[in-house]
Amino acid sequence: MPEQQTPTASQSSNDEFIDFLLSDQKTPEHTLKQQAQAVKAARHAATGRQQASFRPAAKPAIVFDRVTKVYQAQPGKPALNKVTLQIAFGEFVFLVGHSGSGKSTFIRLLNRELTSTRGTILVGGENLSTIKKWRIPYLRRNVGCVFQDFKLLPKKTAFENVAFALQVIGKSKAVIRNQVPEVLRLVGLGDKQHKRPDQLSGGEQQRVSIARAIVNRPPMLICDEPTGDLDPQTSLGIMKLLERINHTGTTVVVATHDKQMVNAMRKRVITLEGGYLVRDEAEGEYSLNA
Ligand code: ADP
Ligand code: MG
Repeated sequence: MPEQQTPTASQSSNDEFIDFLLSDQKTPEHTLKQQAQAVKAARHAATGRQQASFRPAAKPAIVFDRVTKVYQAQPGKPALNKVTLQIAFGEFVFLVGHSGSGKSTFIRLLNRELTSTRGTILVGGENLSTIKKWRIPYLRRNVGCVFQDFKLLPKKTAFENVAFALQVIGKSKAVIRNQVPEVLRLVGLGDKQHKRPDQLSGGEQQRVSIARAIVNRPPMLICDEPTGDLDPQTSLGIMKLLERINHTGTTVVVATHDKQMVNAMRKRVITLEGGYLVRDEAEGEYSLNA
């Protein structure tokens, strides 16, 4: 079945994403060494090597401890309410719930786009309430993000879109020439590297955005409704790709309300309802009414 055509991302959301990537360039020189060590430690933790050799109890990838998020516009109605959970390195987790249940808020807290109102969030052991400003770009390097609307640069090819994520963190041309075709092959786009978003189907555009999110090999990948605009067959292909990435050791968190998909995948399912965590099941099902 051919993949559905969908419009490419709007310029404004692209601008936000570029700011997000470029925030990396504001890092002062003297902190680079410390940061490199932090990235290395996160890598070790991601592959489990460090825990296996040094630590009997593995450090979780993500900890939420009684996390509450209240938006100013809705002071009486927390978007997340005392959410407590842990996600281990290497897990694949679905975050499900109706529209407005708090899924995107959860995702945006994880990459420190938002801060919690109360409670503690740890990502790779780093406390996001007390994280130093200079470390936030490094957090973001370790947490790849995929969105429903792809956020691709419309005038750039698949290759250039993925290369851009490496350019902004100062990777050399040689690294870019080597890693970009490799990651595009991994997501199944080896033969479409020189196509622009408007020459690609929705599913292919989402594959480019996944390639961009993982090209720097982050230990975590978080996805907010990654198949929200795709037909069921294309969605399944994207989920299988995310599963394959998870099998390489990457922790994957997918917010979705795609019931059929969640039930087909047999993964851990965390259910939010009105900002409350109401269910957390290994190999769970999407059990809210559609
Ligand atoms: P979901 O992704 O599950 O649809 P959200 O996290 O987007 O849920 O929203 C959770 C709740 O927070 C909803 O009631 C929504 O209206 C509210 N909300 C989300 N973003 C904002 C915001 N920027 N300002 C005020 N309220 C918001
Ligand atoms: Mg949402």
